[in-house]
Amino acid sequence: MINREFFEHAIVLKVKTYRDNDLIVKFLTPSYGVVTAFAFGGRKSRRRFSGCFEELSHVVFKWKSPLRRGYFYLEEGILIDRFPNIHKDKIPYGIAVNCQKFIEAVVIGNSYSKGIYKIFLELLKELDKGNSIFSRNIPIFFRAQIASELGYKPQLESCNRCGRLLSTEQKIFFSPIKGQSFCVKCTEKKNGYLALNKRAYLFLKEVFYSGPRDLMNKEGLTTNENIVVLGIQKFVETHLNIIWQKGKFVHL
Ligand SMILES: [Zn+2]
Repeated sequence: MINREFFEHAIVLKVKTYRDNDLIVKFLTPSYGVVTAFAFGGRKSRRRFSGCFEELSHVVFKWKSPLRRGYFYLEEGILIDRFPNIHKDKIPYGIAVNCQKFIEAVVIGNSYSKGIYKIFLELLKELDKGNSIFSRNIPIFFRAQIASELGYKPQLESCNRCGRLLSTEQKIFFSPIKGQSFCVKCTEKKNGYLALNKRAYLFLKEVFYSGPRDLMNKEGLTTNENIVVLGIQKFVETHLNIIWQKGKFVHL
């Protein structure tokens, strides 16, 4: 079997001890999705892996395949940023951990990971700034953006039935289950269609079409915007078949 070598930026998702001095490290990369690798002697080797095994850290890893079928092993690591401010405050830390768990639950080694990596790194950088009042809905916005990257971006620009552009409408209907939007004339008034005013509609679009940087400080959500948050939750639940329950993500 060919011994391939990889060298890439990564975000550390999970670190577990394996036997005495060895670690199993799970990390997110731009090109290979989520990778799990052994770090032999990782608990002791400060020279090869200095500071690289803290969860949520941005690192560069060099790893090889395969030692045994399907197993990678880490050779070296360089720490880029451990985001110290995230660890100092339970609010940004809680947000970061929730998003980390979501990635672990929905991202497997796949070709969509470039955008997902970029979103997660941007989120960590924003949370590390430490001087903001963070919206409690950031993990929900994050899930919507990751769902988009996984190929589930909803159709929001025009009415799914008549094609009318929705940006000029005063009232828009969104179906989280279908992932489609409709004008007033074309909506079916049943099955969980959400009636959105213009502000709520623009907010929904912003969540799906922007990055974490634009959504960090959304404060004082109106009732309408809270409907959008519920819509996003329903959308993610339906399309990724996953819910947050009792402190963990559960596949439906
Ligand atoms: Zn229509």
